[in-house]
Amino acid sequence: MKKLIAGNWKMNGSLEVNAALVQALLADTSAWTCDVAVCVPPVYLAQVQALVQGSRLDLGAQDVSAHQEGAFTGEVSASMLKDFGVRYCIVGHSERRQYHQESDATVALKAQRALAAGITPIVCVGETLAQRDAGLTEEVVKRQLAAMVHTNGHCISEIVLAYEPVWAIGTGKTASPQQAQQVHHVLRRQLQAASQHADRVRILYGGSMNASNAGALLAQPDIDGGLIGGAALKALDFLSIVATAR
Ligand code: PEP
Repeated sequence: MKKLIAGNWKMNGSLEVNAALVQALLADTSAWTCDVAVCVPPVYLAQVQALVQGSRLDLGAQDVSAHQEGAFTGEVSASMLKDFGVRYCIVGHSERRQYHQESDATVALKAQRALAAGITPIVCVGETLAQRDAGLTEEVVKRQLAAMVHTNGHCISEIVLAYEPVWAIGTGKTASPQQAQQVHHVLRRQLQAASQHADRVRILYGGSMNASNAGALLAQPDIDGGLIGGAALKALDFLSIVATAR
């Protein structure tokens, strides 16, 4: 399966910084063997769409409204994202679950909106440190994925899943390749029980992935790519992760 390396810029960037970063990423894409995307803040979609036009770098968003259209001030719909050539959209990032109280059901609806617009949702699941310490990791990620399966039925094979242990995001602490593989395997089995096409779902790992730990993580049988935060803001770091993903 072709791996996917997706950068999550979070709330970072400016017109000037984005242009320099994308230009550096696109300097030489000839050796890329995986799919590559950058998930950018919504106000920069038009800018980055123009910058990546015709290139091998795909455009992603970081969130989408659970509603179709109408009186939802400040929200951005899936069809609006589609207007700007968005191919992927992160849903249920732990920062959205934590700071915006997004429930499993809301996240599942967001994925449904994205799919209906022809956008691939990158669905994030993951446990907190307290949950891991209490031995609840598998229960938590299974519950989060179950909501997704319940709402999206057979379309579940069209998503990208991202296992992002909350304690590893932006902390410099990475799950060991074995820890990550164990959870990815559980998620794969759950997907297989829900869909006969589950084996084409890419399950990304996210959480302080960087140039030095990417190789061992991406070598695991059920790790099909990475969702990269901090390291996606530096072209050289991001590109060396891309080069590792074969
Ligand atoms: C993320 O925000 O999805 C993420 C994985 O961040 P970082 O790589 O900085 O831990």
